[in-house]
Amino acid sequence: MLSFQEAQNIISSEAALLRTEHIPLDKAVGRMLASDVYADRDYPPFNRAAMDGFALRSGELADGIRTFTIVDTIYAGTVPKEPAGPGTCYRIMTGAAVPEGFDVVIRVEDTVENEAVMTTAINSFKPFLNIALRGEDVKLGEPVLRCPLMCSASVASVLATVGKSTVEVYALPSIVLITTGDEVVSPEQAPSPVQIRNSNAALLKGLLKEKGWIPEMVFHLPDAPVVMEPVLRESLSADIVITCGGVSAGDADFVPGLWKKLGVRELFHKVAIKPGKPIWCGRTAEGTMVFSLPGNPFSCLVTYKLFVETYIDLCHGMGLKAFRETMFNGTRHKRSALDEFFPARFMDGGFDVEPLPYRGSGDVLAAKDADVLAWQPASRNTIVQERIKVLPLR
Ligand code: AMP
Ligand code: MG
Repeated sequence: MLSFQEAQNIISSEAALLRTEHIPLDKAVGRMLASDVYADRDYPPFNRAAMDGFALRSGELADGIRTFTIVDTIYAGTVPKEPAGPGTCYRIMTGAAVPEGFDVVIRVEDTVENEAVMTTAINSFKPFLNIALRGEDVKLGEPVLRCPLMCSASVASVLATVGKSTVEVYALPSIVLITTGDEVVSPEQAPSPVQIRNSNAALLKGLLKEKGWIPEMVFHLPDAPVVMEPVLRESLSADIVITCGGVSAGDADFVPGLWKKLGVRELFHKVAIKPGKPIWCGRTAEGTMVFSLPGNPFSCLVTYKLFVETYIDLCHGMGLKAFRETMFNGTRHKRSALDEFFPARFMDGGFDVEPLPYRGSGDVLAAKDADVLAWQPASRNTIVQERIKVLPLR
């Protein structure tokens, strides 16, 4: 059986970058940028007044001059119409360009105005007081955004600043999501005493949505090969097929056999992790990636995060999932020789974690309060008050 690391290595070597597309800036938040972006000019593009006040020459202040004739007002986006001789100043507004030769802006609060004459008592000043210098944020041609980068609201603001009204992003993969099980009914249906509701469809759609990925089709299938086969065959036109349930060794676990029958090449079946051991993963000759996850809700979450999300992230140019090291505040024993993953949460707003109640992979409430998936390595039968690796869930 493959180790977690070996299975992840296979996933990594299968991942190929998605094609890219150009989309309007308004649609870019939540998408992965596919090309670096450079400053199209200096920022600020001109020496910018950072206060409402008066633009002066520091040399004249240094010479002891404190009274100046106001020759014009410079608003943001305008240039002065009147030239300024010695002993003059401009009234200037925040965001306006400070004219050539002027290198100090005195706050309006530090001045007294009478007719067209301004007097200031200011004593402490230095060149470029209250002026944001041209190019001090970034210079023409320098990089402002480096890929891979998720377009957040702040990134969108940078794109707008440098005039990127269309943005190159990775195309969204086409995804088909299939749940299975005769006993599984949809949430609006009344289950019989021995049926359960389909929580994994909600879980997987939600996990995809958190990353901005939307399955183009969602199906639920009974455990009946004749019904399953045509739907599974049809699903293979997508980039990624995610199924859940029916991958273990039970009499109704038809999924791996059907994939083989449909010509999907098996990459691995079973990984030495708990929960999630029965996971099946394969690929078609045309490049469709197939992930068949076990049906128990916590297994489904763990295998999605460890393998499916990892794969899709890699296809968007991101690196392997970053586990974070943190302090484990608790004691946990395991008997298996597997890498185990369990739900944990941050304590008191910090980064130390404590284990959450967990009754095994079928526990329907196991993940609801979890901030992280905590990893107890295969070799460590007991972990107690020590640093461990965790994978953030939010
Ligand atoms: P399976 O992997 O099909 O053997 O299912 C393992 C367990 O997960 C069984 O108890 C199933 O009833 C349950 N299960 C399977 N699919 C789902 C689903 N979509 N939602 C909630 N539970 C499920
Ligand atoms: Mg089943």
